[in-house]
Parts: sequence; C-alpha cells; structure tokens
Amino acid sequence: MAKMINLKINGMDVSVPAGTTILEAAREIGIEIPTLCFMKEMNEIGACRICVVEANEGRGFRIVASCVYPVTEGMEVRTNSKAVIESRKMTLELLLSTHDRKCLSCVRSGNCEFQKLCNDYGIEDEAKFDGDKPHYELDKTSPHMIRDNNKCVLCRRCVAACHAQHVGVIGTNDRGIDTNVACAFEKGLGATGCVSCGQCIISCPTGALTEKDDTDKVIDAINDPEKVVIVQTAPAVRAALGEEFGLPIGTGVEGKMVAALRRLGFDKVFDTDVAADLTIMEEGTEFIDRVKNGGVLPMITSCSPGWINFCEMYHPNMIPNLSSCKSPQQMFGAVLKTYYAEKHGIDPKNIVSVSVMPCTAKKYEIMRDDENAAGVPDLDITITTRELARMIKKARIEFNKLPDEQFDSPLGEATGAGVIFGATGGVMEAALRTVAEVLEGKTIENVEYTAVRGTDAIKEATLNVAGMDVNICVVSGLDAAHKVLTAVENGEKNYHFIEIMCCPGGCVNGGGQPIQPNSVRQTVDIKALRAKALYDYDAANTKRKSHESPVVKALYDEYFEKPGSHKAHKILHTTYVDRSKNVMK
Ligand code: SF4
Ligand code: SF4
Ligand code: SF4
Repeated sequence: MAKMINLKINGMDVSVPAGTTILEAAREIGIEIPTLCFMKEMNEIGACRICVVEANEGRGFRIVASCVYPVTEGMEVRTNSKAVIESRKMTLELLLSTHDRKCLSCVRSGNCEFQKLCNDYGIEDEAKFDGDKPHYELDKTSPHMIRDNNKCVLCRRCVAACHAQHVGVIGTNDRGIDTNVACAFEKGLGATGCVSCGQCIISCPTGALTEKDDTDKVIDAINDPEKVVIVQTAPAVRAALGEEFGLPIGTGVEGKMVAALRRLGFDKVFDTDVAADLTIMEEGTEFIDRVKNGGVLPMITSCSPGWINFCEMYHPNMIPNLSSCKSPQQMFGAVLKTYYAEKHGIDPKNIVSVSVMPCTAKKYEIMRDDENAAGVPDLDITITTRELARMIKKARIEFNKLPDEQFDSPLGEATGAGVIFGATGGVMEAALRTVAEVLEGKTIENVEYTAVRGTDAIKEATLNVAGMDVNICVVSGLDAAHKVLTAVENGEKNYHFIEIMCCPGGCVNGGGQPIQPNSVRQTVDIKALRAKALYDYDAANTKRKSHESPVVKALYDEYFEKPGSHKAHKILHTTYVDRSKNVMK
C-alpha cells in the first residue's frame, strides 16, 4: 500500500498517497485547479503555467505548476491566493497578446477553454501586452480539417494526441515568439502521414483546430429542387449529439435527432445501422469463406477509415488481411444510388447522399477511388456530429423540445447488432452473433459477448464457434493497433479475426464528436457513458442479429441475391492501396 502523505490545502487537512500531484490532491477536496496544457498521462509537461499554486515546503511559499508537482509531507498549498490569481491572469494576458481574438465568429466560442479562463479571471484589457504578432496562413491542405495557428495557445495537447495515435506528424517548430505547432519542413498537414482521425481536434482547448465545415454544401443541396437529399446517421451520433444541447453525457437522442433532420429539410432520414447489418452479412460471409478455404487470416475489419488510412500508410503489408467490405457509410451510399435509385426511378445523379458521422476521416473516405458503385460517388457530403449540431442551432430548432420520431422506412429499420457498431467491440460482437448462428446452424440464445465489451484498448478472447476455437482481438486507438499488428507480423500472436477502430473507445469517441473540456475528459469516462447509450438501444431492440433484419433479407431477395454474390462484391466491396511511400512521416 502506498505511503500516505499529509498536507494542507487552503488550510484544510488532506491525506493522499505518495506520488499524488497537487492538482490531484486538490480534487480530493473538491477543488478543480484550472489547466490548459495538462492531459493526464498524455501531456504532463507543466508548460502553460495556468495550473500554478503557491506551495510551502518549509522554505516559504513559491509558485509551482500543480499538474506535475508531487505533494510532500507537511506541505502547505494555496490554490486561490492573490499571487496565484495574478500569475494566472498574467499568463492569460500574455497568451492573448499573440491571439487572434475573434470570439464573435469563432466556432469554439462558448466551448473554448481559453475563452472561459479569460472570462473566469476577468481579463478586461485583452491587448495589455500587444506587440509584434506573428501571422500564420491557415493550413487547409488536409481533407478533413483546418489548422489556424493564430488561435493556438501552444499547449501541445494536439501533439500529444497525435503521438498517442502512433502517428506524430505535428510538433513544435522554431523558438521564442516564433514558436508554432506545425508539421516538419513547414509542410501542410495534407502532405504528411496524417490519418485524418481528428483526435487532435477534440484535444484542442481552442478554435485553432476545426473540422472542415461542409454544412453550407448540405444547405445548398436541400435548397436545390432538382435534388433528392437523403441523410444517414451513424450509430455513435445519437449517443453524443445531445451533449451539444446541454444533455448529460450518454443521453441517447435518436428520436430527437431524426426529428431535427426532418425539420432541416432532408427528403429521407435513414439509418447507417442498416448498412452495419449489411456489413455483418458480407463480412461474416467473407470470414467464413476465409476460414473454410484457407484465405488470408487474421481477417481485419474495415469499417473505420482512419484505421484504413493507418494501414495503407504504416502497415501496408497487412492490406491483404483487410476485409474487402466497404464501411457501413459507403455501403449505405452504394445501396442508395443503386438499389434504392432503381426501385424509386431516381437518377442516381440527382441523389445527394449525405451522412452524419462521429468521424473526420470520413471526409477523406468519401473521396476514395473504388467507392462509386453507380458511376457517381457513393457519398456526396459528410458532416460530423458537431456540424449537425451547428446546423440545428442555426436553424433555431429547439432540439430538447422535439418529439421522438422514427427513421424513414425501409432503410431506417436496423437491428441491435447495427447500433453497437459505434462502440469498440461492437463490430466483433455483431459479427459473432451472425457467424456463430450461421456456422452452428441453430439459434444462439445469449447474444451478449461481454468479453469484447469495455473500453480497454486491446481485448482478446478465444471463443468456441461451431466446434472451432476462434482467437479474436478487439483494438481501439492506433497505438494499440500498431502494437497488435507488430505482434501479428512477428508471429507472436495468432488471431483469426481482429476488429480495429481508429479512435480510442471506438466511434463514440470519434474526432467529429462533441468536444468536452479537459476537466471533464479527465474525470468522466465519456467513452463508456456514450457506449452504454448504444448498448441500451441494442438491448431494447426486438431484433439483435443482423441476419434477422427484414430490410437486409429484402435487399438480398430483391437485389443482391446472397451475401458475397458477384453483384454484392461489385457494389458493396472495395480495394486498398499501399500509400506508405507517398507520405512524409
Ligand atoms: S479560440 Fe477561443 S478565445 Fe480564441 S477566438 Fe476562438 S473562442 Fe475566442
Ligand atoms: S488528425 Fe490524427 S493523425 Fe492527423 S494530425 Fe490530428 S491527431 Fe495526428
Ligand atoms: S493547436 Fe490547439 S491543441 Fe495544438 S498546441 Fe495549439 S491550442 Fe494546443
């Protein structure tokens, strides 16, 4: 048991284990010391000086950075003294002196940690230390995001997030007042091995990093009388959208989300979960075929475009292991512009296929080759959960007062297996529900594979399916993916089936999801709460296996003939390319 350390914080006795920082010790008595650069276990650099406190270890009080300073026996701490407040104020005023102060139009206004700090500390003279101000061009070179260094406070949280993804294409350049966060050799992000995951965006405390906003394209399409504008929503969106409207983390808002999309003017509101069910039919069939006919194993899932980017750029030798299935988003778009267009006599060129995704990498995915089943792109526009929230707010739709409405029929009726795709382990669990039943030829009663649930980065299990021991692995986050792939490449691990999601925790924690401040991210298990919302939807669904979906059955009966058919392959599957030589890492 760790030795306990006794100290006083603001005159109150506190006892905490040795090794605890002052920041953590203060939390024990309900004081949340403000931070800017700090991210636990990811960015503990004590650089921004916002978390300063006064500490006395017997030699008088001095200012220290509480996020990295460990408590010592008999220490006295002041978290809110005049000296502390003045120090934090000066730090904020210095940061403001080089800041592009455009709060009125900034996309993060109201959800900006820097703005809140300035407000909390009553910074009245924003220009107190104004002098030479470096100016940076916006970096718009990547498909998914814009970097605006004029709003950067040099906290380096994005750098840590990118390293945690085993990518590491951003870092600090230059010195002194010219210090800036950018890519090597002054290249744009688009010229690097960035995988478009957006984890840097949700780590950024300010408006320096934002997704490319495609909401105007959606509004233009809705206002074009020639176009049929159809929207699909990914599972994870319904588990997080409510946060943008003040609802508690983990509140499921499927019905209100559908109602809001209808009021925005979409012609049809469909559910990506239907395509998730279709993915399971195709992917499950592919897996069974690989097992029975000596195909390449382990088979690795292909739903997550950030992961696909990572595989193509950093582990191209694993491309043959990737399932050839398009992601559910792309499958949905392909179904829309082939089956649905034919059935309803619509020219696919007149369909505008829109998706709402928790993901920024989708903005790259829709531009990929071999994603155009009807000769036109499967998807035309993809927006993130945050962009949808902006559209709803701009349209003055009173989200929290909306009734719960149902998706449109038929492409809005999915099973519980489809909705759990949004959480790490969900694709594996959905696949197992179908593969086990198809291989064993009998009804499986217990559909909950708890071994693959939870937010651990790597989960392993061996399951007996139809008399065969199947070694599975579920991975979320690219650092974990790199570790697992390296072990597979070295022959240290022998899996049959691996699920990989780019973002830690899966899509619920995608780079396009609502941004919670760091104080919340450090103290609340956001991934688990959002995932629970999805598992609750699954449990409430009377159909929980993809092969039981009447919509999926109709798709095969009327159009695709059977899973893995020639037609299904042509429309629902894709190809990958080795991009390892083209990227600057
Ligand atoms: S980043 Fe924050 S402080 Fe800066 S303009 Fe945007 S909202 Fe204002
Ligand atoms: S999007 Fe992902 S890979 Fe690209 S810079 Fe940000 S964290 Fe790094
Ligand atoms: S871009 Fe954002 S996260 Fe990165 S250093 Fe600047 S303020 Fe911090």
